[in-house]
Amino acid sequence: MKNNSTIARRKLLKLGAVALGAGVVTKVTASQANPATKKEIIIALDTLNENSTPDQVLAGLLEGNKRFVANKPEAPNQDYIRLQEVSAEQKPLVSIMSCSDSRVPLGVVFDRGIGDLFVVRDAGNIATPEEIGSLEYGAAVLGTPIVMVLGHEKCGAVKAALENKPLPGQIGSIVAAIQPAVDRANKDDSEEFYTETIKRNVMLQIEKLQASPLLHDLAEQGKLKIVGAYYSLKTGEVSLLS
Ligand SMILES: [Zn+2]
Repeated sequence: MKNNSTIARRKLLKLGAVALGAGVVTKVTASQANPATKKEIIIALDTLNENSTPDQVLAGLLEGNKRFVANKPEAPNQDYIRLQEVSAEQKPLVSIMSCSDSRVPLGVVFDRGIGDLFVVRDAGNIATPEEIGSLEYGAAVLGTPIVMVLGHEKCGAVKAALENKPLPGQIGSIVAAIQPAVDRANKDDSEEFYTETIKRNVMLQIEKLQASPLLHDLAEQGKLKIVGAYYSLKTGEVSLLS
């Protein structure tokens, strides 16, 4: 548990590191160009901690995505100080379940660093018992006030569910978990239907998470929000679905 003095020390350490520069903070160039702006940004990021509400954390997460989309990443918490800070204990801000797709690098997409994101990944971002257990751990034990399920544009696992063909090995088990999200009655071959199914799959997996008594109780107490989101491969933007 971090207390206020720990957080204050962390700010001082970071500001000191910016002042020291060389080899300690990776984004020194920007701070040298405009030190005042750099200090403000670092303090703002540090205001997110274990006492933040679900809405505050979600806003902070999406703020990082905006920086990424604007090609203005700050790469917070990616320095040696942060490495040392979280080496004894992790206190991530959010739990995220996403697809394994190599084009969805979560730390980059949300412009976050070491110890910020508690991540569960599998093809199709499906909620298996192990994934649900991991997210329960993230929310109930590590205390993240947000659990996000993140689907993405052109998800191959969802495509396979739409095609519904025999698959080798155990790949079929992934597709079977997505099948209920495919609206067979209205199915067509359009890009729109594909995208719609990806989003429906996110909501399907969220239903499974909401069936977890542990997550449900945390949500009832206002300590947790479970949110669905969609990632655009072309723009890098994350948009909320719920
Ligand atoms: Zn995918």
